[in-house]
Amino acid sequence: MMQKNQLNDTFGRSHDYLRISLTDACNLRCMYCMPNEKVLVTPSAKLMQVDEIENIANIFVELGIKKIRLTGGEPLLRKDAKQIIEKLSYLPTELTISTNAILVDQYIETFISSGIHSVNVSLDTLNADEFYSITKRGDFEKIMNNIHLLLSHNFNVKVNIVLMKGINEHAIFDFINWTKNFPLDVRFIEFMPFSGNAWLPEKVFSYAEMLNLIATKYSFVKLNDAKNDTAKKYKAVNHRGTFAFITTITKPFCENCNRLRITADGKMKNCLFSQDETDLLSAMRKGHDIKPLILSCLQNKKQERGGRFDFENIANRSMIKIGG
Ligand code: SAM
Ligand code: SF4
Repeated sequence: MMQKNQLNDTFGRSHDYLRISLTDACNLRCMYCMPNEKVLVTPSAKLMQVDEIENIANIFVELGIKKIRLTGGEPLLRKDAKQIIEKLSYLPTELTISTNAILVDQYIETFISSGIHSVNVSLDTLNADEFYSITKRGDFEKIMNNIHLLLSHNFNVKVNIVLMKGINEHAIFDFINWTKNFPLDVRFIEFMPFSGNAWLPEKVFSYAEMLNLIATKYSFVKLNDAKNDTAKKYKAVNHRGTFAFITTITKPFCENCNRLRITADGKMKNCLFSQDETDLLSAMRKGHDIKPLILSCLQNKKQERGGRFDFENIANRSMIKIGG
């Protein structure tokens, strides 16, 4: 018998999507994600271990989760990433991953055998020099090769691009052009503020501005969006792939939010922007039942953007510490 979803908040939203961060370590230094000051990586003993991830995920699935995304930091940097993916693949949920793709070639067999069909890859430019200036690393070729490797194995590949004014907004045309011959979904994300990422309102390249710019060069059609989609989807005429916008700043999509998050150190966040965290891992290590904690964390979920509207004074974990 189908179990009833118990993950309802006080605004009538039902939650069935869980994002689990595996680590706050990363092999890139993306300027919008990594704070300028040196980030201290959480020691391994404080991270959720393989069995703990499995137990916590199991409990969320019992409560109604239908889709799990592994994220980070860079999730594939974890030495036990293969084990974690394999363990979670037995759960009756869709399993997906967000990665910078540097290590994808080492994991592609694991993805296939674990039933992962869809992979989100972060890449903010198609120019190698610009890639270096955004990420402080020179792995551009590796990432491009791995994206094409995923495509050649028929994965659904979504490429996430954070467009920042004065940095990489011109890359928008290269990405749309890329969708001409490849079945890629490219998604332009409005630059979001997190602790230490030098966010300013004037650096946000808004949905409306992006769409207007694209319209100067391409004819496109609007595609249907599913109820819980965070992306507004479009397709350039005669292109194989699609493009979309994630409009957290100018058009938040909180009304239909179905997402919950767990940080790599086992804290539940009911919203990307919430300041409150519920320490599930410590409670579980003490032998406590974490179900009541999960449900009460959800009851405190705010209607919009964690109840935070003053983006210029946002104090939160950095994105790398939350798990995007
Ligand atoms: N390392 C993996 C990756 O880069 O895909 C997973 C973690 S990363 C934190 C997850 C997503 O968060 C990426 O798509 C990244 O572009 C997005 N992200 C990070 N900082 C952001 C910011 N300030 N504004 C918007 N998106 C951001
Ligand atoms: Fe690393 Fe992803 Fe953050 Fe870039 S966006 S620094 S790849 S975690």
